[in-house]
Amino acid sequence: MSRRIYIYDTTLRDGMQGSEIAYTLEDKILIAKKLDEIGIDYIEGGFPLSNEKEAEFFRRIKKADIKHAKIVAFGSTRKPKSSAKTDPNIQALLQAETPAAIVVGKTWKEHVKYVLQTSYEENLEMIYDSIKTLKEEGREVFFDPEHFFDGYKDDPEYAVRVLETASQAGADVLVLCDTNGGTLPFEVTRIMNELPKDRLKPLGGHFHNDSGTAVANSLAAIEAGAVQIQGTINGWGERTGNANLCVVIPNICLKMPYDAYVCKNLKHLTSLSRFVAEKANIIPDKRQPYVGEAAFSHKAGQHVDVLNKAAHLMEHIDGSLVGNERKILLSELAGKSTIVKKLSKYGSFDKTSPEVKELLSKLKEAENLGYEYEAAEASFDLMMRKTLGKYMKLLDLGNYHLESFKTGEVPAKTVGRLFIKVDGREVMGAAVGVGPVETLDKALRDALSPFHPFLENIKLTDYKVRVLNPEKATEAKVRVFVTSSDGNHSWNTVGVSRNIVEASWQALIDSIEYYYNNFVVEQGR
Ligand SMILES: [Zn+2]
Repeated sequence: MSRRIYIYDTTLRDGMQGSEIAYTLEDKILIAKKLDEIGIDYIEGGFPLSNEKEAEFFRRIKKADIKHAKIVAFGSTRKPKSSAKTDPNIQALLQAETPAAIVVGKTWKEHVKYVLQTSYEENLEMIYDSIKTLKEEGREVFFDPEHFFDGYKDDPEYAVRVLETASQAGADVLVLCDTNGGTLPFEVTRIMNELPKDRLKPLGGHFHNDSGTAVANSLAAIEAGAVQIQGTINGWGERTGNANLCVVIPNICLKMPYDAYVCKNLKHLTSLSRFVAEKANIIPDKRQPYVGEAAFSHKAGQHVDVLNKAAHLMEHIDGSLVGNERKILLSELAGKSTIVKKLSKYGSFDKTSPEVKELLSKLKEAENLGYEYEAAEASFDLMMRKTLGKYMKLLDLGNYHLESFKTGEVPAKTVGRLFIKVDGREVMGAAVGVGPVETLDKALRDALSPFHPFLENIKLTDYKVRVLNPEKATEAKVRVFVTSSDGNHSWNTVGVSRNIVEASWQALIDSIEYYYNNFVVEQGR
């Protein structure tokens, strides 16, 4: 049996140190669920001591239906000259009530001297006491020796003592950290081979990408015996980022003689990468290995002929293994099987069913216009319903009228009116708001709520706008994503237009119609 590698995701902690990256609490929960679904072994949820939002995450995730992954709380060792039993940070880790905790401690003497301003012996005490206390409370405990590789280069003897101390305190894995990201793969190999492994607990690796080698370092660490690798989805993190799990994982599963639990769901990796990108509101890097849009794209010509005959001569792996698709061939087959799977909710279909063909062509057409359904499953659900004749229309729009005005230095306001036909009657809604989208949403609710009180349970929990062709400046097309929730479920919809209000309207109507079709008509609520 091949050696098992444990995948540890820190998208929701280290990943949030990246510039321009912020996830709402709702997004963090959704991302954690996706990471669990695909089979990530450990999900670092955050730093429970840092703020209320982080602490709330741990309360919420406890109630979420997490099947495989273990949630991990992150914190540092106790303060100098104190006791872990009363240290606020160690206490916060325990109060997070996660099955596992990770403790970061100093390995580099310079840091002990200048940052902690304490003695080398006291630093070892802090590590021992912190880990021991968490172990006594029944946690699985990982130790993050911060700046391990720099510390080792400076004083190998002390760095090893740090690891021995953590091992004696009962740490389950010692996750060697390249915190500054300056280490190269052959140094990882050399240093890990020099360690007295018989006196240490199993090793892991946590690499930053400042030298462009975070993935290579992770693979080198595995070769040198690491059992756990930490990284983030899409490699996003502080400065130049962390080891990119979307690259590390397929390398382990497809190219190394090791196994990871996530390998059985490898074909969902591309979708996970894009889901996290949508949540971060960052355009995914086309050129990302394995999961990037261009990873298996080919220009026309002789090349494509060879591809048809013997794809392995032109591609390092079959892109469908990671859920990606070959671009030039439009990947009819991959597209069809995804649709068959999605349609299985409504009955049994196969790749030759006319509904599958129709849906595929609608999908391609919409994608050409800029729609994206990776993170807008509710809009795609409506497209399926329309194709199958299982769609109930909620309303007909007569017209809407919005007027934004600004006077002098007073903040702008918008007034709006909307006429719709619902249950055979013409009704009007009116509202005043600050922005046009908010005003339109209010006017729609004003008109529709008396007929459909379910609307009062639906809240918009997130709203994201992306410019699709920024080179067109103010004439650019925008894509709007809306996340809605009724308190139990949440769902996502999409709209595209050169007019931001129109794009928002599409996403709003999809959101309400999705709920109406799936929860009101079918479940009679
Ligand atoms: Zn880090």
